[in-house]
Amino acid sequence: MNYQSTRSSDNNSNSLQAVLRGLAPDGGLYVPVCLDDISFDWKCTLTEDTFAIATRVLQALLPDFEDMSGLVDRAYSGKFETEELTPTVMLGEDALLELFRGPTSAFKDVALSMLPQLICAAKKQLGNGELTQILTATSGDTGKAALVGFADVPGVKITVFYPEQGVSPVQKAQMVTQTGTNVQVCAVEGNFDDAQTGVKKTFAALNEKVLEGSGVALSSANSINIGRLAPQLTYYFKAYADLVRKGSIQAGDSVDFVVPTGNFGDILAGYLAKRLGLPVGKLVCASNANNVLTDFLTTGTYDRKRPFHKTTSPSMDILISSNLERLLYFITNGDTAAVADWMNRLSKQGGYSVSDSVLAKIQAEFSAGFCDDEMTAGAIKEIWQQHHYLVDPHTAVAWYVAQQYKRQNPSHAPVVVLSTASPYKFPAAVLSALGQPVPEDEFEAMDKLQQLTGVAIPAGLAGLKQRKVQHTDCVGPEGLTEYVKKSIGL
Ligand SMILES: *Cc1c(COP(=O)(O)O)cnc(C)c1O
Repeated sequence: MNYQSTRSSDNNSNSLQAVLRGLAPDGGLYVPVCLDDISFDWKCTLTEDTFAIATRVLQALLPDFEDMSGLVDRAYSGKFETEELTPTVMLGEDALLELFRGPTSAFKDVALSMLPQLICAAKKQLGNGELTQILTATSGDTGKAALVGFADVPGVKITVFYPEQGVSPVQKAQMVTQTGTNVQVCAVEGNFDDAQTGVKKTFAALNEKVLEGSGVALSSANSINIGRLAPQLTYYFKAYADLVRKGSIQAGDSVDFVVPTGNFGDILAGYLAKRLGLPVGKLVCASNANNVLTDFLTTGTYDRKRPFHKTTSPSMDILISSNLERLLYFITNGDTAAVADWMNRLSKQGGYSVSDSVLAKIQAEFSAGFCDDEMTAGAIKEIWQQHHYLVDPHTAVAWYVAQQYKRQNPSHAPVVVLSTASPYKFPAAVLSALGQPVPEDEFEAMDKLQQLTGVAIPAGLAGLKQRKVQHTDCVGPEGLTEYVKKSIGL
């Protein structure tokens, strides 16, 4: 299948090249040129297990890969708490899709267990013998999931940049204690947007011409890489099949999904699942106080010139949501000139507006809402009191927005809320939401939360405190390119 950049039609690639490169040479994101040409029998996914659904989805979106079923097996076998990978639980009338049962306790594991398999397979099939240097900016969860996925993978080196003050202590500890001969972790003095912009600038500065003859090629583990996004479609199909099996819906009925959103990757995967035929009603975009997407989806104006809030859901503290660019491409039927113009305005002027007709098309598919930290805490407490179920702050944001959405849209379809992280990644915020005094040390908070609720600490997080710190590097927001150049010996 043909892939091209969101910003011009002259960067055509196949799916192997798109995954291996991560970002298109013109700074755009790789997209399948014609979504409607993908033939996909979604009804088969109703009876298949998660591994088979993943294989089917990935074969459809990334058709140039050989032996997808083998890759899926190697990616997921034995790595998650359960072989169904992403269980669905019912909380009252709503379904909650648990995406955090992987090795690092966040939904990023679903994609980042798979991506190393895809990158290695792409290299092999393309006969690429270069060192693949993965560059990743993280708002907290991608970093660790990528480090675990890529640690000691031959032919690959990974560098993770995280905002020095922008991740939870547990998230930081997960990253800086990561071992492996090919891993590097570096703090950035700034927020996530600074880290992500720095990575994008490094891609531009170290382009293929600059790297020619060096034996090194760059790639990305962020959701700008289509190989990161594609595995995320799987759990939309899986959740739908679960609801059919539970008898909550019949095959063909619409389901609304509420997605806690930062970089717009997860929710875009839901949109792609819909385009492959899944009966999705509305995709509800849930934000925290950094509600740039709520505003965009309600008014059609994207304006990142606004205060940046540090919230209790740090993985969504993002003002530049990269994957919105892909949505704009699909919604405009591939108007690359318009997308390039909007993205240019975003980078030069800090924002852009789409036309009423584009907005109307977007609103036909998406709804949006947000909540602040206080409402998030209220939701954590309410869910614990009503359902005896412990959610993390990101999930709580989505839950809050889901209830708001249902009140405002009485004729809504059955709702699935995506649960993106374990509460133990954010124990201080969760403990505080439950009205408990919070110890200064987050690891003590973890233990206290377990004593209070009886919910077990996930294996990957228990014992984290004892692990040795391996990484202490830190750079300014303009220092990423030099750092990478030095580390690859340029
Ligand atoms: C990354 C992340 C999100 C946001 O996902 P996007 O794909 O960036 O929109 C939400 N919750 C958690 C816990 C995350 O780690």
